[in-house]
Order: sequence, then structure tokens, then C-alpha cells
Amino acid sequence: MPLQARVHRAVDVVEARKAAIGDGTEVRRLLPQRELRTIGAWCFLDHYGPDDTSAGEGMRVPPHPHIGLQTASWLFDGLVLHRDSLGSEQLIRPGELNLMTSGRGIAHSEESPRERPAELHGVQLWIALPRENIGQLADFSHYRELPVIAESPEVTVTVAVGEYRGERSPATVYSELSGFEVRFTGAGQITFPAFEGFEYGVLSADGPAAVGCPATATPTQISPGQLAHLPTGVPRITLYAPGPSRFFVVGGVPLGEKLIMWWNFVARTAAEITEARDAWVSNSGRFGEVRGYQGDRLAAPPLPPGGLKAR
Ligand code: MN
Repeated sequence: MPLQARVHRAVDVVEARKAAIGDGTEVRRLLPQRELRTIGAWCFLDHYGPDDTSAGEGMRVPPHPHIGLQTASWLFDGLVLHRDSLGSEQLIRPGELNLMTSGRGIAHSEESPRERPAELHGVQLWIALPRENIGQLADFSHYRELPVIAESPEVTVTVAVGEYRGERSPATVYSELSGFEVRFTGAGQITFPAFEGFEYGVLSADGPAAVGCPATATPTQISPGQLAHLPTGVPRITLYAPGPSRFFVVGGVPLGEKLIMWWNFVARTAAEITEARDAWVSNSGRFGEVRGYQGDRLAAPPLPPGGLKAR
């Protein structure tokens, strides 16, 4: 491959789409994209905030169903209350991981608790389950104790999913994945090795920052609302912080299959989606009931007239 082509492809930057969730909270949707559907099995990535939740009720995402995935919730700032149809009721704080596995079907809600700090800022991620794991039992796990690696006096890495420098997150996932936060207390940079066969995505949470790898002559600038994508074959990745800032990094072995993603469902066939939608609409019991949320559950939107296609 000519050097020029490699240089061009080493770090691609994709722009978020603006989307609204639940009560209308605006988010930056970084995955899926037309040109970049997944990074490993990470198939959905919303970055939201910082939002001021001091007035009114704050964040409110009413009960809604999921199939075919794990949801991973990560906060940079603030406090969120999770409830689900297994009966879980769990507060999540920065540095902790909420990981919910859909099994054949689960429902959950997320909201700001009454007592909370004003600022809310985080990421909501989905992990596509391998086909052989979609029928297993649903699960919710909260991880408070995650490995934190001090790279230098200014830089710490918290391992949410997978492994970083030999330290492994206790979170259970079903494919080869990484997910970690890198926190700088001042200007600086770190370089970490990429796993063999992994592709990566990097977002900057707080402001302009940069990402580089050996094939790039100059670091690539990214701001909140952008996702840097580094393809497989990059041996190591460098993050550059101009001052106090946080990054979230996702990685994994490219999925190698197409998914049908519609509303809150991840599947391989249109029938799986329509059956899940019917079960939610008819309240058949497949997804169970979320208790304790004050308000109605989300209504399923109509199916697209053109049908559902794997992409
Ligand atoms: Mn959800």
C-alpha cells in the first residue's frame, strides 16, 4: 500500500449526529455512523453533557426494552439512578460501571435522583452480543472497584472493560473488547500499546485534544462531538491533552458481521426486531416490568416503511 494511503487512513475522524433521548436530553451520537457502524462489538456510543440538571427533574429516560446487547453506562460527572425489570435499583457515580445484559429481553429506566450534583456528563454505550449469547439470562452488574493505573503523576487510566497494561476489569463481556477512561490533571501525553487485531475509537470529553499513532506525521485534533477511529494494525496510540481533560477509549476485534439496529434492539434478522417490538407493544411480559419509575414507559415507534436491513 502506498505510504500516502496509509497516512490518510491511520486516524479518521467522524462527526456526531445530534439526537434526543427520553425527555429530550440532547446527545452527540458517535456510533453507529454511515461509514463506521461498529468498533469491535461496540455498536452504539452517545456522549452527553456537561448538562446543568439543577433545575426541574434532570435526566429522565422512561422504561424501554432492549434485546441482543449489553448496555454500558459511564459518567464523567454527576449521578444517575438505574432501575430495571430484574428489580435492580442502582446509583452510578463517576469511575463506576453499570453493565446490563439483555438476554432475551430486559427493560430499564435512567433518571437523575432527587439529591444530585448539578453537572451531568457521561457516555452511554452498547455492546452487540455474539449470536450464541443472545438467548442467555438477562443480568445487571454494577462495578464500583475497577482497576486504576497511574501512568504518571498527571495521568490515570480506569479500566471499565477488558484489559490495560495487564490490569483486567471484572466486567463480563462476550467478545474481545477494551473500554477505558484516561484522565489528565494537567497538560501531557501518554502512549499505550494497541492490542493485536483491535481497532480503536477515541473521544475527548472536555475540549479540544489530539490523537496520534506512528503512521501520522502530526497528531489529529478532536473535540467533543468527534470520534477518532484507528484501524487494526496501528501498533500504539498517543493521546495529547492541552490541560485537565478526560478521554474515553473503546477498542475491539472488528465485528465482521452486519447487524440490524432499530430503536433499542440489536439483531441479525428483521423477525427478531418485529417480535421484540410486538412483545413490548402488547406488554406480553417478555421484558418484565420496571418498578418505581414515576411516569409512563416509552412507546415503540412505527417500523420503517422500507423494512429493516442489516448494515
Ligand atoms: Mn437503554
